[in-house]
Amino acid sequence: MNEQLMRAMVLGEPGAALELQHLPIPAPDPGQLLIRVTACGICRTDLHVLDGELTEPALPLIPGHQIVGTVETIGTGVSGFTVGQRVGVPWLGGSCGACWYCRHDKENLCDEARYTGYQINGGFAEYTVADAAYCFELPPRYDDLQAAPLLCAGLIGYRAYRLLESADTIGLYGFGAAAHILAQLARHRGQKIYAFTREGDHTAQEFARNLGAVWAGDSGQQPPEVLDGAIIFAPEGQLVPLALAAVRKGGRVVCAGIHMSEIPAFSYDLLWGERQLCSVANLTRRDGLEFLPLAAEIPVSTTVHRYPLEQANEALEDLRRGRFNGAAVLVP
Ligand SMILES: [Zn+2]
Ligand SMILES: [Zn+2]
Repeated sequence: MNEQLMRAMVLGEPGAALELQHLPIPAPDPGQLLIRVTACGICRTDLHVLDGELTEPALPLIPGHQIVGTVETIGTGVSGFTVGQRVGVPWLGGSCGACWYCRHDKENLCDEARYTGYQINGGFAEYTVADAAYCFELPPRYDDLQAAPLLCAGLIGYRAYRLLESADTIGLYGFGAAAHILAQLARHRGQKIYAFTREGDHTAQEFARNLGAVWAGDSGQQPPEVLDGAIIFAPEGQLVPLALAAVRKGGRVVCAGIHMSEIPAFSYDLLWGERQLCSVANLTRRDGLEFLPLAAEIPVSTTVHRYPLEQANEALEDLRRGRFNGAAVLVP
């Protein structure tokens, strides 16, 4: 029998480059969809997996958790999907459905949750399988490339943003894929965005101003106006005291990354005055059902940089070095 093969970029061990392999096309288990991948976004989290900062990958692993594709085969017991339909697969690939978190609309915190491109093979490949219950319909307004960054940068960014919905002035630390989406959402709602980038990254600062930021500068700078809240996307712990110093009394600083370097000790004065420091983790399916139609309605546009699947390592390195604005997307 001739087994059908697919191209996939595979992580053998943390610290190694992804390797192009030809692997059998997976068959969908009950409840799963076999999806032909048409685009897969690259995320900072992929770098944390590659670098071994996230310590529980299922190796060997196909990374990638912002997957756009079309349904090729439908597993038994799946309803509501048709062959040929376009779907999106996010980071949350499964949860237990029974624990306290799952029963309280916090499936993002489920201890048994499984994540796409981490414990489940992801979208740096021509095909993937995914639990149909965790797949999203995608707004037709977006083509496959433009839709991909909505699935993590957009979704997890939105989850962080919701904690600052009542803020008039918002600081975004790290102006990458998530911030470039959120800036448009915040602007649409009449909120002012202050963008903080790596020191001297004038390209990113100009990109932020073009997307409506009222101010853009280096992350070490204090903004010209006191902020009501801030979101930290960059994985740098030293940004936490800087962001706390930039927000007003009662303001909130949200850490939105899955990994951060150690936070330096800081004076209690920075937290005093009812300032709040919190994190957001992962996403719930409800976040997707809210955010995806909202993005299309505003509409939010995404700036994408296309790389062929085989150039996943180059794309990841460009992300690490901040060599592009917006989001990188792999195309098989
Ligand atoms: Zn659970
Ligand atoms: Zn991500």
